[in-house]
Amino acid sequence: MSVRVRFAPSPTGQVHIGNIRAAIFNWLFARHAGGQFLLRIEDTDRERSTPEAVQAVLGAMEWLGLTFDDVPLYQSTQREAHLAAAARLLEQGDAYRFAKGGEGAEATVFRLPWDAERVPGVVVTGTCEISVHPDEPVIIGREGVRYAQISSKGKPVAEHKCLAGFRDLEVLDAGESVRFRLADKIDEILAGRHTESVAGAARLRFTRRSITYQDQVKGVLAKPLDGLADFVIVRSDGHPVFHLGNVADDVTQGVTHIIRGDDHVENTYRHLFLFHALGATAPQYAHLPMIVNAQGKPYSKRDGAAYVGDFREKGYLPEALFNYLALCGWSPGDDREVMTRAELAAAFTLEKVLSSPAQVDLTKLAWMNGEHLRRRPVSERLAGCRADLVAHGFWQEGMDEGYLLKVIDAMAERIKLYTDMAAQAGFFFTEDYPYDEKVMQKRLRKPGGREGLLALREAWAALPVFTAAALEEALKAAAAAHNLNPSDLIHAARVAVSGMGVGPGLYVMLEVLGAERVRRRLERTLALVPAA
Ligand code: GLU
Repeated sequence: MSVRVRFAPSPTGQVHIGNIRAAIFNWLFARHAGGQFLLRIEDTDRERSTPEAVQAVLGAMEWLGLTFDDVPLYQSTQREAHLAAAARLLEQGDAYRFAKGGEGAEATVFRLPWDAERVPGVVVTGTCEISVHPDEPVIIGREGVRYAQISSKGKPVAEHKCLAGFRDLEVLDAGESVRFRLADKIDEILAGRHTESVAGAARLRFTRRSITYQDQVKGVLAKPLDGLADFVIVRSDGHPVFHLGNVADDVTQGVTHIIRGDDHVENTYRHLFLFHALGATAPQYAHLPMIVNAQGKPYSKRDGAAYVGDFREKGYLPEALFNYLALCGWSPGDDREVMTRAELAAAFTLEKVLSSPAQVDLTKLAWMNGEHLRRRPVSERLAGCRADLVAHGFWQEGMDEGYLLKVIDAMAERIKLYTDMAAQAGFFFTEDYPYDEKVMQKRLRKPGGREGLLALREAWAALPVFTAAALEEALKAAAAAHNLNPSDLIHAARVAVSGMGVGPGLYVMLEVLGAERVRRRLERTLALVPAA
């Protein structure tokens, strides 16, 4: 069977990177297998799933190159299909109608099957006993078993779990006598004709069954049925609930693998029963660990940019964000990091998805962006860098493009985003660059500072060629001649010609600036550093 996966977002506004990462993993999986990557917009929350919110999802996907096959399925168009599925479940006896408090409109509730063994993945794990609080009655009815657990302080803690969780249930009192045996009444109870209330119970004894499945990321996962409750699939106002829509649509779309965030693991235990009751084979599941911040907490807006749109606005390249998110919780198994979409798809397998949470590291992402940036065609880099210079008033029509190209080359290691350009390289394009006063204090406004600049002015003015190598040699010779420390001269020169304490390699920077600019800049700075 060919692979069919889907991204099933619930549009709520902005698109979180954790969400789009699920889309990326699905896309990579489908492209690797030559299968289909489908899009389902789970837009049943009409208030939050506005056209703008849907557009945000589509826009983010398009920007990241997450091409999908087939037209998107809008869940809101599937209401009739969901209600038909609910009707089928009612008819089969896999669901019942229930009104809270016994009056008003009825919801449709999915019943975890009493004969659960027929569902693939259900295993019997043995006899189990639970102590119950004697002050609360144990109530056994069609809607399940209500009892009170005993808290560490001895207080009753109400529980309501599915009937299917309690096969062979016996309710015992403190004296070990059986006060109620479910087998005696099961038919009436399942039919809703009888509810048993047992006062003064001390323990429940039953055969525990668990639902298990093999998660492609997390291994075998299991949940005891006595930890689950029957659940609403159509609300009393007639609206199908998430669980029903999600599963029914996966059946409709013929989904073979579900790759999604591990916040859905708990839902999966329920969904496996729904797939079975709807006559479908459950897909393979792969639950992705969360993306977290440095403290290990879910990564959120408070930790920095968290939405796809934030990164787009900041000037990140889509292929860099794609690459970075693909490596959040997955690795190709070798030491490759900077990869194209095609390389990622070729290498992608679920076995290599990591089972521990992936920590978001924005510094790493910026580095990766720089790597992708350097792989872009020169013409594009030129346009990207120039746009930022224009936006900050450093570039006007008619300026020298050849000079700009040299600057971009010199800055290649330092520019991680096009939007870094003005802040980091603006000084190349103006004679009115500001000085970092702290650096001025440290490097020039001190004994010997002015002397150093004078020595450099003299040494560099005499140079026949203004190349990095010649500049370096001349600086070292000047240091020796004036008995100055070469590294003091290097720092002094940098702040003098750029106003900053950090930047690209000094000699390359000087060569790019050229003899005339460097001369002018030394003069300008000397005027600010009077003789002591
Ligand atoms: N719409 C849900 C979500 O965004 C379902 C996801 C899924 O099943 O993949 O969390």
